[in-house]
Amino acid sequence: MRQINVVRSIQDMRHQVALWKANGLRVGLVPTMGALHDGHLSLIDQISATVDRVIVSIFVNPTQFAAHEDLDTYPRQEAADLDRLQGHAVDCVFAPTVEQMYPQGFSTQMDMQGPAQGLETDNRPHFFGGVAIIVAKLLLQSQTDVAIFGEKDFQQLLVIRAMVRDLDIPVEIIGAPIIRESDGLAMSSRNAYLNAEQRQIAGQLNGILARLATSGLPVEQAEAQARDALLAAGFGTVDYAALRDAHDLQAIGAQTTSRRALIAARLGDIRLIDNMSA
Ligand code: AMP
Repeated sequence: MRQINVVRSIQDMRHQVALWKANGLRVGLVPTMGALHDGHLSLIDQISATVDRVIVSIFVNPTQFAAHEDLDTYPRQEAADLDRLQGHAVDCVFAPTVEQMYPQGFSTQMDMQGPAQGLETDNRPHFFGGVAIIVAKLLLQSQTDVAIFGEKDFQQLLVIRAMVRDLDIPVEIIGAPIIRESDGLAMSSRNAYLNAEQRQIAGQLNGILARLATSGLPVEQAEAQARDALLAAGFGTVDYAALRDAHDLQAIGAQTTSRRALIAARLGDIRLIDNMSA
């Protein structure tokens, strides 16, 4: 079994990347929170086709969790993650401690606007500020040439693209398609929390999303139909079932050229999200 180099300090990662760059190598970063599944592995496979060296970061980022959310119980399984990376083109895993990333006295926050407004933010106002901070830190720490993010978190991808543009961070951002289970459920580290009954209900999410994307009904009617279908399937709460302009996630208007259907719904404490082109 190949030993993957695990780097735990920012200094060591900077040193590693500097060596690669001095040799003219192009470096890519795959940011994750661990509990790796085939969705994460697809990001690695996609980016490794365009770069010479791949870093996978594993860090459960406290600032993107609200106090009542699942920070403490979020699955942490580094040894299993390193096993899962076998056979994929990973040159280094960056797994810093919380103290490295948020040392005593850390006092910066980011207030994200534009595509960060609405949808996820309606229920998780803290979320994109935390994501933006950690992604900005990872990009600046690693000085990577390319970074890849899944369309699974479509709004997050737009927020990160906007942040990178606004802050002139010299990195290319790539979006990657959603990897699904055989019944269409988008792969997620949180799927591991689902019991058998919840897993069966979760499998209906993608079909409801597809009907929202293709119904041809007026927007409000299509959204209401999707919401009713989710509740009828057994979801406890629907955070949103929305059709939006795919470029900025604002309401669909005369200028809209492409649409996105997006759903967030809860089964007990477990929150599932999915989206597709509409
Ligand atoms: P996470 O570990 O959940 O923070 O996700 C790390 C990265 O993997 C993010 O860019 C996600 O969008 C991406 N990702 C998560 N699940 C999937 C999936 N099913 N298909 C494609 N990308 C995914």
